[in-house]
Amino acid sequence: MRRVSIFGATGSIGQNTIDLIKRAPDDYDVVALSGARNIAQLAKDARDLRAEVAITADATLLPELRDALAGCDVEAAAGPEALVEAAARPADWVMSAIIGAAGLAPGLKALEQGASLALANKESMVCAGALVKASASQHGGRVLPVDSEHSAVFQGLIGEDMAAVERIIITASGGAFRDWPMEKLASATPAQAATHPNWDMGQRITIDSASMFNKALEVIETREFFDVNPDVIEVLVHPQSMIHALVGFNDGALMAHVGPPDMRHAIGFALHWPERRKLPVERLDLAALSQLTFRAPDETRWPALRLAREVMAGGGHTGAVFNAAKERALDHFIAQHIGFMQMAEVVEEVLSRLSDQSCLTNAEMTLDSVLAMDHLARNTADAVIAEL
Ligand code: NAD
Ligand code: MG
Repeated sequence: MRRVSIFGATGSIGQNTIDLIKRAPDDYDVVALSGARNIAQLAKDARDLRAEVAITADATLLPELRDALAGCDVEAAAGPEALVEAAARPADWVMSAIIGAAGLAPGLKALEQGASLALANKESMVCAGALVKASASQHGGRVLPVDSEHSAVFQGLIGEDMAAVERIIITASGGAFRDWPMEKLASATPAQAATHPNWDMGQRITIDSASMFNKALEVIETREFFDVNPDVIEVLVHPQSMIHALVGFNDGALMAHVGPPDMRHAIGFALHWPERRKLPVERLDLAALSQLTFRAPDETRWPALRLAREVMAGGGHTGAVFNAAKERALDHFIAQHIGFMQMAEVVEEVLSRLSDQSCLTNAEMTLDSVLAMDHLARNTADAVIAEL
């Protein structure tokens, strides 16, 4: 029996993970499941999977969670500290699928107790890649990519020599506004941005797909995960989302990972690694698909991609600032305080205002230093938005 915990269990990645676990319940001993506001879903899954503990990130919802778990022996807990305490409970495999920088502390704690960390929470790598990697190597754990592009690259690198890698190409669908005329983008609404042509994901990452902030985070995540030079990484717009990534080698070969847009492939690969097991995903009929198309991304339409390169050049805490400014800009876009194209303007201005902070690139990285920069960047983003 493998002991597993799922942080962000009620979200899109969390529910896909639970779908796989529920197909083989005798193989897993579920330790912790976490959610935030969807208490009914959290309690149902905790009961079904006989979890040891269920945690809501929202401390005010503890009484509701206790009520929902009444009569069964699942413990109830709440608040950010309880999340970290739950991540300290011994587990073999931990899914990190909280959205945003809030996923960092529980993920690091899971690595500290020696678990393998399946990392959907790309923000952890963007904000604190050095810490995540150091913690994994210090405690004998392993970080396994769950983002579809990174899982594809990881699979493309099995048995290969990193010194022979010339290119890593991650694809992007282009999101909701790929074919919109530029002049319409300024007035795009959150509801319009929250629809995705191919993937069924949470609201925030779907909007980040339309702005390509998601791809910008993934470019930085690629650099951190595979320890490659930023020049090696390319983004390719591929509207069908069937090829997730390609790895190019020094003999000219390009190895592509092709599969249906179903996150259960990448989650299942991380769950069973280093084995491959049968997964309930569609088998592609390439003849029926007939056409896969590609185009270069336009950085006027998607300025986030240009900013990602600045972030990689900055290094240190620049990723934490970029992510936090993006999270705040997204909050304000969802609240309709700022327009769609203003999100990138806000993030660029925050990066510029904080660029002279010596702690941005020089300071030693700790969880506290990352959280302090995250806090500063959120406040700076709020100040920038208030001045607009
Ligand atoms: P989601 O919004 O559907 O779910 C987020 C989960 O985090 C929920 O369980 C929610 O309750 C919890 N949560 C929200 N705020 C929290 C907080 N402050 N503290 C603790 N928990 C909180 O998100 P998602 O689409 O499942 O994405 C989760 C992560 O996986 C993100 O980092 C995203 O970038 C990444 N990812 C998602 C997909 C996808 O297909 N959805 C693909 C690749 C990567
Ligand atoms: Mg992805």
